[in-house]
Amino acid sequence: MEYFSLTLHEALRRLDTGEISSVTLTESVLARIDSVESTVQAYLALDRERALRQAEQADIVRSKGQAGPLCGIPLAIKDVLCTTAMPTTCGSRMLEHFIAPYDATVVTRLAQAGSILLGKLAMDEFAMGSTSENCAFKLPRNPWNPNCVAGGSSGGSAAAVAADECLASLGSDTGGSIRQPASLCGTVGMKPTYGRVSRYGLVAFASSLDQVGPLTKDVRDCALMMNVISGHDPLDSTSIDQPVPDYLESLRDGLKGMKIGIPREYFGHGLDPEVDKVVRQGMVMLEEAGAELVEVSLPHTGYCVAVYYLIAPAEASSNLARFDGVRYGFRDRSADSLIGMYNTTRSRGFGDEVKRRILIGTYALSSGYYDAFYKKASQVRTLIKEDFARAFAACDLIVSPVVPTPAWKIGDKADDPLALYLSDILTLSANLAGIPGMSVPCGFSREGLPIGMQLQAAHFNEAALLRAAHNLEQRAGVVGKKPALV
Ligand code: GLN
Repeated sequence: MEYFSLTLHEALRRLDTGEISSVTLTESVLARIDSVESTVQAYLALDRERALRQAEQADIVRSKGQAGPLCGIPLAIKDVLCTTAMPTTCGSRMLEHFIAPYDATVVTRLAQAGSILLGKLAMDEFAMGSTSENCAFKLPRNPWNPNCVAGGSSGGSAAAVAADECLASLGSDTGGSIRQPASLCGTVGMKPTYGRVSRYGLVAFASSLDQVGPLTKDVRDCALMMNVISGHDPLDSTSIDQPVPDYLESLRDGLKGMKIGIPREYFGHGLDPEVDKVVRQGMVMLEEAGAELVEVSLPHTGYCVAVYYLIAPAEASSNLARFDGVRYGFRDRSADSLIGMYNTTRSRGFGDEVKRRILIGTYALSSGYYDAFYKKASQVRTLIKEDFARAFAACDLIVSPVVPTPAWKIGDKADDPLALYLSDILTLSANLAGIPGMSVPCGFSREGLPIGMQLQAAHFNEAALLRAAHNLEQRAGVVGKKPALV
């Protein structure tokens, strides 16, 4: 039996019955990594010995009847989350050897739940990008076609789950970085409501947009992960003190009485016909499960890319000012003055895309331009938020594609930042509005590449997302289909 291919909940069941041990499971996943990682290229750090020690420990804990909700489950996380046990590079030369002095709250929660941390996953540098091609160390591949991108910025998190190199992972989503790679790699991915999951120990990209969330093999696994990572954290002032429902409960029901909105602006120009077809088939499945489909309008959708690509770089330029060669990570030692050291450290430590964002952001925030750019963008952001509030008065969920096209060939858009920015059009608005969004595998293109459906809900209505996603998953018949790796 290939235990590495189990879903998280199926593995838990077998651990519970004693059919497998965590050591067996972890060894199976490590063997899987050995056989496919040279193709998939998802891991920036992997600690086998530690994982096996933790697995032994988990088996002991379980035998004493003290198993936590993820006891003995091997997981991996995006390398943007601080860990004391392994380096946290954010995919950047700037932090190449950086070991964080503390664990992110989500890392602590996963550990307290009994899970095993296998390693850290590849990503676009500082989470800026849509293909993971901006990673300074590795380029994760799409397990369904290794010549194609896995998406980004959590490309490693999606590729590792899709390739069965871990049972589930965490990513971060500032403008689509969980949902987009999940869609391109055929995994489930959820960006929770802003404030639902602690950002403490998540290296900041754009603080008003960033959120941590799970990438999993199916919807039940997503609910299990959400149960563990959600909830208030006094260490993150933006985390919200609101009770966390048991997300597994939301998987019980059909969709009778649920109104699902279809935003006409999301099905416009530039949408690949195959994506359009697969997502529309998914809508029919939701209807068959009892939902009523209604048309809604999000009239400011056309401004999302412009607004996001001002606000996110502006916040990034401020957040990344701390990487100055003095406080963290890399320092260029050849300079002979302080200013010179700042200059050469940042010139050598950051890649092109990060520099581009810092330049755009610094410009947009500079005196005389602030009103014209950042302030204006913030005002339009409010309009985008109001679009959603109006739409959610008429429906419970909004469905759409996640990405306008299936995964593309590595290199195809690498020299065209604007084309990449535009491909984010369908995912940015959830971050701008702070609402939860999810990608659920819906079907495949003719070339066999996965296509996801995006579900979006009002603030703190993750339960409705999971319920609809679970119903879709039962009908779409995608779960259990595996890429033909090796
Ligand atoms: N692709 C978007 C960007 O490059 C979103 C990234 C993210 O969500 N971290 O900014």
